[in-house]
Amino acid sequence: MPEGPLIRTEDLRVYFPVRKLFRTIGHVRAVDGVSLAVNRNETVALVGESGSGKTTFGRALLGLVRPTSGRILFDGTDIASMGEKELRLIRRRMGIVFQDPYASLNPTFTVYRIVEEPLVVNKIGTKEERREMVMKALEEVKLTPPEFFASKYPHMLSGGQRQRVAIARAIITRPAFVVADEPVSMLDASIRVEILLLFREIQKRHGVSFLYITHDLATAKYFSDRIAIMYAGKVVEEGPTRAVLSEPLHPYTQALIEAIPDPDPMNRFKMREVVPGQPPSLLNPPSGCRFHPRCPYFMKGKCEVAEPPLYDLGDGRKVACYLMEERAGNR
Ligand code: SF4
Repeated sequence: MPEGPLIRTEDLRVYFPVRKLFRTIGHVRAVDGVSLAVNRNETVALVGESGSGKTTFGRALLGLVRPTSGRILFDGTDIASMGEKELRLIRRRMGIVFQDPYASLNPTFTVYRIVEEPLVVNKIGTKEERREMVMKALEEVKLTPPEFFASKYPHMLSGGQRQRVAIARAIITRPAFVVADEPVSMLDASIRVEILLLFREIQKRHGVSFLYITHDLATAKYFSDRIAIMYAGKVVEEGPTRAVLSEPLHPYTQALIEAIPDPDPMNRFKMREVVPGQPPSLLNPPSGCRFHPRCPYFMKGKCEVAEPPLYDLGDGRKVACYLMEERAGNR
């Protein structure tokens, strides 16, 4: 197995132009200088409020959104500047599971056709070989007996079953990397655990790396090895999941976490409904630290003047906040 992370970004930026009367009047900076790695056989949770840029980042990693600048190294090869034809070959080694299992499945296709589709598109296997692969994938996601589910249409299935179909479709090409974008947020709590356990099983069996995009710290705690907190297009804190959740260092992470003693591990951490203050506009973000208008520790003359670097605190922890300057310097 090659050394190094499976996929990593270097200073990745994705800007979307905003036009008015045929003129570009500005750019929405959805992803603004993110350097993040996902190691082999690892799950990284990317956590943030809606509109923080996490979905755009995940799509950029899959080549579904082209970056404005920066690099995306997949197995050491920069895919950010690749042409569509080359990228298509790389995408065979990647998969995606979306939030809404109903909207992401073609309602006019049978389960068989939905799961087979990536094989057809990528010209993998004969008809007979594809049949075998589809049945195996359905078994793997526990839609058994597979022959029973293969002939169903999405509307005949429950939400959890639909998401299992979406997972079967995502893993059928044996991807090394899967982006799971809020894959359990529309499911009942009991089904959530089952689906996350299924991801874990798949990871164990095939060594898949996951980028798990979520706004939910409880499931991030349950499923991820490392966590990255995204705010207004930037990663503001990163580190091993347990360390970040037990000792959040960035004021934004602290605002997100409300530790509630609860015997149920899925309820141990809850995202606050509202972090005080408004999320900033990505068209015209605040100067300096983007969190400064909402930060209880705001230091005038410093925080609004220049953007804090992502301080490396050791042990895999990184925090973009001036409060960490001394701690980083004392290493
Ligand atoms: Fe708050 Fe300043 Fe740290 Fe930003 S840099 S999070 S404004 S203390």
